[in-house]
Amino acid sequence: MVAVTLILDGASEPLGPAPTSLERARMPVLDSLARAGALSRVRTVPLGLSAGSEHAIPTLLGWPPAASVDRGIVEAAAQELQLAEEEWAWRVDLREGGERADEPTVERVAAELAALLPGHALRRLAGHRLLLSGPRPLPLRARDDLWVWPEGAVPLRVLGPETVVVAARGAAAGIARLMGATVVVPEGATGSLDTNLRSKAEAARRALGDGAEEVVVHVGAPDEAAHHRDPLGKIRALEDIDCQLLAPLAEGVRAHGGTLTICPDHGCDPRTGLHDDLPVPCLVWRAEARQPAASRRLTERAVAELELVDLTRAQELVA
Ligand SMILES: [Zn+2]
Repeated sequence: MVAVTLILDGASEPLGPAPTSLERARMPVLDSLARAGALSRVRTVPLGLSAGSEHAIPTLLGWPPAASVDRGIVEAAAQELQLAEEEWAWRVDLREGGERADEPTVERVAAELAALLPGHALRRLAGHRLLLSGPRPLPLRARDDLWVWPEGAVPLRVLGPETVVVAARGAAAGIARLMGATVVVPEGATGSLDTNLRSKAEAARRALGDGAEEVVVHVGAPDEAAHHRDPLGKIRALEDIDCQLLAPLAEGVRAHGGTLTICPDHGCDPRTGLHDDLPVPCLVWRAEARQPAASRRLTERAVAELELVDLTRAQELVA
């Protein structure tokens, strides 16, 4: 028996009169699992903490944070950066007129920061993100064109190597590594829209074949598309996930027996590009489930009236 979880980063959205991306996307595999599975409405972001993967993913992995999570340390773990005893790491996001900075700007500001902070190491992460590491405190003042993520809590080591997390080299990988899981970064996994979903499916299949009983697959593409305020891109990402990743995952769970859980970590609205901390819809499908006639889907609307399952209080997703 295996437990496979697919985390759809930023997939859900606040409910309004217009259909959400989960409602608009054609996801026949997800629909067929939903018809035979159990839906729930879950809180993934602890009250008082910002809506983001750094708080929602640890919750989904079984450690709901009680304080803001340190994004720099998470990114350093994702990069497998070795920090000396007295060193720390800080994630820096570059901005331009309130938007994510473009490539030439990132290059320019990165060079400027490298000259400004000779005692610190600087590495580029994907897109508008940088990672600085070195002695504390970081001698960098607040600026309009950059945001330094504040220092915070480091995820607790509550998992063991028997939990396998398949993710790009980003927040999910860093959190999972800090929590003690085995992290697999498949070839071509970018955390963005161009990510190689088939290689993620293949990595999960291999982990199950090697005897892993708990496999978590994270996909960042829906969140990235929403940040780019690309509603069609978000729908396309969900549809690609359905056929290239969810179908083989369901096949794997069917072969081994067990459960397949599909859940966004948090919401991200493609009209605003902003996260939300509302409860998200969650589906648990069991391989032995019969195919009933119910016509439910994994959407925000389908779970709107369901009682809240508060995962931030460390309840179990599967009863
Ligand atoms: Zn995001």
